[in-house]
Amino acid sequence: MILKILGNNGPYPAPGGACSGYLLTSDSGDTRILIDCGTGVLNRLMDEGGPASLDAVILSHLHYDHMSDMLPMQYALQFHPRPRPLPVYAPDEPEAVYALLKAPCFDLWEARDATIGEMRVSFTPACHPVPTNAIAVECDGARFVFTGDSNQDALVELFCEGASLLLADCGLSEADHKFTAPHYSARLCGELAKNTRAGRLLLTHLNPKYDPQALLAEARTAFPAAELAELGETYYI
Ligand SMILES: [Zn+2]
Ligand SMILES: [Zn+2]
Repeated sequence: MILKILGNNGPYPAPGGACSGYLLTSDSGDTRILIDCGTGVLNRLMDEGGPASLDAVILSHLHYDHMSDMLPMQYALQFHPRPRPLPVYAPDEPEAVYALLKAPCFDLWEARDATIGEMRVSFTPACHPVPTNAIAVECDGARFVFTGDSNQDALVELFCEGASLLLADCGLSEADHKFTAPHYSARLCGELAKNTRAGRLLLTHLNPKYDPQALLAEARTAFPAAELAELGETYYI
């Protein structure tokens, strides 16, 4: 699989940056899914063939930094129509935000295990203030796992086991982290990767208020091979 980072910030974009957005393409190029579509992701997706080129969109949850560009995506699809509506997998709460996705160009699906082209997609609930899923995608003999937005959680940890590449919510520094926080800290991302024997760890949901290099150094205290998910970068899984 090929992962391209279309957005790596949260909960708001850095100057010139973008919030959560991850494009996964199978080795054959025949299957393409977008995971999350936050602020600033749609313009980068337009460089990659636009929404008409996707097999599905999967939204980890309905906080704006993970879904806001789904709104103008509806206009893009009006001008670049697909043969069939675009499948969108998402939690159905908060209700008022979910209602914004009820458009003729989208085919809304429950976030349940599914086969999308060559990809097998599975979900498990994450630890966050609104219904949120961690997402695993298996394809081409590799397993990609995205934690979604989450704090430490035993189910999420089990779900992450054996990821070829783990993309983890690094929303907080250890100094700002609490047991009740909505995000992992950088150090906890490193520990999660170590405990679940991840092949590779990418840190994302980078809050522009932090120096990313400081977050990276913190994660590396637990998982020395940790990397930042770099905007626009391509990773082979
Ligand atoms: Zn977020
Ligand atoms: Zn969130």
